[in-house]
Amino acid sequence: MAGRVIVITSGKGGVGKTTTSANIGSALAKSGHSVVLIDTDTGLRNLDLLLGLENRIVYTLVDVVEERCKLKQALVKDKKNPNLCMIAAAQTRDKSSVNAEQLKKITDKLKKDYDFVIVDCPAGIEQGFQTAIAGATEAIVVTTPEVSAVRDADRIIGLLEAAEGIESYKLLINRVRPDMIKSDDMMSIEDVENILSCQKIGIIPEDTGIITSTNKGEPIVYNEKALAGKAYINVARRIVGEDVPFLDIDEPKNLIGKFKKFLSGLTRGKE
Ligand code: ADP
Ligand code: MG
Repeated sequence: MAGRVIVITSGKGGVGKTTTSANIGSALAKSGHSVVLIDTDTGLRNLDLLLGLENRIVYTLVDVVEERCKLKQALVKDKKNPNLCMIAAAQTRDKSSVNAEQLKKITDKLKKDYDFVIVDCPAGIEQGFQTAIAGATEAIVVTTPEVSAVRDADRIIGLLEAAEGIESYKLLINRVRPDMIKSDDMMSIEDVENILSCQKIGIIPEDTGIITSTNKGEPIVYNEKALAGKAYINVARRIVGEDVPFLDIDEPKNLIGKFKKFLSGLTRGKE
C-alpha cells in the first residue's frame, strides 16, 4: 500500500511549521512507522537543524531534481530513529529551483517505500506553496491564535479547497497560552476553530522547552515531561486514526491554583 503524503503549511511564517514537521515525523517514527521528511523551504533550511542533522547534509532536494545525485543519496538518516530520514532544502536563492511537477515525482517515488512522506512548506501563498502541496493528498494547517496568523490560515484553506490533489486538511493551533486566553489577550481555541471552520488535529501549548530542544537538535517529543511533546505525540496518534482526547493544557496552572487555594485554606485555618 502506498504511503500518505502530508504537507505542513500555514501562510504566515514563524508559526511552527518546521517544529511541527520535525515533531510529528519523530513521533510517527517512534511509534514504528517509516517516515521521510522533506524540507521545501529553499534558502532557509532549518529542518536539519531541528533534527541535529545539519552536519550530515551532502545533497539537497535541488541536487535530486538536477540529477546530481540519486534520490537515495539525498536521504539523510536520523541519528535517533532508524525509521526516520530527511531530504534537506536547497541552499540557493532561486526559490523556483524546484517546481511542483518535480516535487510530485519525488513524493510519488518515496510513498512507495515509506508509510509517511511529510513535506515542510515555506511561508506564503506563492510558488513555493504550490510546489510543496503538489504531491500531497493531506494537509495540516498550522496557525497560532493571532489575528494575522488566522487570517493567513484562512487564505491557505481557500487554496487547499481549490487544490486538485488535496483530499483533506486539518488544523493545528500552536503556541497556545491559557493564561492569555483567560485574560482575553489571546483568541480562544473555539474562536479560531469557528473562524476557520476546520476540524482540529492538535493544540500545542507555548513551551520554552521547544527553544531548548531546537538548540539541542532534539525534537521535544523526546522530552517525556514536556506538555508540548505530549501534545505532538497525540497529534501523531490522531494521524494514524486513534481517537485521542485533547490535552488539558491548562492543567499545571489548575494544579497551582488548587495548591494556592489549599494553602490559603490552611493559613485561614490558623487565624
Ligand atoms: P515556521 O517553520 O512556521 O517558520 P518554526 O517551526 O521555525 O516556524 O518556529 C518559529 C519559532 O517559534 C522557532 O523559534 C520555534 O522554536 C518557536 N516555536 C514554535 N512552536 C513553539 C511553541 N509551541 N512554544 C514555543 N516556541 C515555539
Ligand atoms: Mg519553517
